[in-house]
Amino acid sequence: MNSKIYLSAPHMSGYEQEFINEAFKTNWVAPIGPNVNGFEIDLENYLKSNSYATALSSGTAAIHLALVMLNVGKDDEVICQTKTFVASVNPVIYVGAKPIFVDSESKTWNMCPDLLEKAIQDRIKQGKKPKAIIAINLYGMPYNVKKIHTIAKDYNIPIVEDSAEALGSSYNNQPCGTFGDYSVFSFNGNKIITTSGGGALISRTQKDKEKAVFLATQAKESGQDYSHKTMGYNYRMSNIIAGIGRGQMKVLHKRIESRRKIYNYYYQQLKHIESISFLEEPGGYFSNRWLSCILLETETMRNDIIDLLSKNNIESRPSWKPMHLQELYNGYPSYLNGISDDIYKKGLCLPSGSGLSETDLERITSIIKNYFG
Ligand SMILES: *Cc1c(COP(=O)(O)O)cnc(C)c1O
Repeated sequence: MNSKIYLSAPHMSGYEQEFINEAFKTNWVAPIGPNVNGFEIDLENYLKSNSYATALSSGTAAIHLALVMLNVGKDDEVICQTKTFVASVNPVIYVGAKPIFVDSESKTWNMCPDLLEKAIQDRIKQGKKPKAIIAINLYGMPYNVKKIHTIAKDYNIPIVEDSAEALGSSYNNQPCGTFGDYSVFSFNGNKIITTSGGGALISRTQKDKEKAVFLATQAKESGQDYSHKTMGYNYRMSNIIAGIGRGQMKVLHKRIESRRKIYNYYYQQLKHIESISFLEEPGGYFSNRWLSCILLETETMRNDIIDLLSKNNIESRPSWKPMHLQELYNGYPSYLNGISDDIYKKGLCLPSGSGLSETDLERITSIIKNYFG
């Protein structure tokens, strides 16, 4: 049997171990310490403009904290792109609010600006202006920043930018993670860089960052006697884990280059097949190509290819199942156009880990080419 090819395996650089050893040597084995600070500075330097990073235990925790920071609470409504991983939406329920789902545009697979405006107008007509919008850079492709932010500004609704999959992507040369009132990254095991598990909340001011750190450390008031006025969370990143992040940040540019190369390989090898189409970058959009996604002509073809790859010990997966189709979330108001349903049925995520070899890629594409004869 050929060795297993994973969808998106962790890819260590070798630098991680040094930061971890240093943490042990200095006994910073806690959710505080030089690696946590260092990792945050690395992220801030990477993002450049007005970005203040708080390292957290997960991307999900970061989205939760963003909603708390925006005072989203009981019975508020939050608009969210329906085509996403469930972690984008669960925090809406954590704060007691109600998700309102909006469908995608075919150009980016992300939130359709026209439907967003329609949804906002309809919610207002029904009696409630949405309290926040969760916009997502899915698979590393930026959402339509200009249009989405213009609409959000017109109605004065803050944006949480879920950039969990998009560290290293940019829109008109500005990095993803700098657009939202709050932005979020994930460093889970399968993301473009990983800390095994972890996340970050990006705030726009130092003051907001301080508040995020406060809330993420049980909202303990200053002083010796453990006084609390606010409910907080235990969401800080461990100093050991942050060491992995510092090592990974050193090679982020290489990881982006590799993932984009993998996408281009698939594109060159498969673009001639009529039944396959790609999620191409519109002008001004730069994707980190976290996962290379293709659309098949039919659902049957997509399922056949998943099975064939699986028989050859290769992991691939359908593109995210939209939230309005989930048992957990059906019944919530949804503004749909059929696009996310279609991408869900025909979309396929191919192995995209930055550690894949040319031989791995040949193995994958030859199976797909053979299927189409
Ligand atoms: C991975 C991911 C998250 C959650 O991040 P975790 O670190 O796994 O909690 C949120 N949104 C999207 C779109 C993701 O892909």
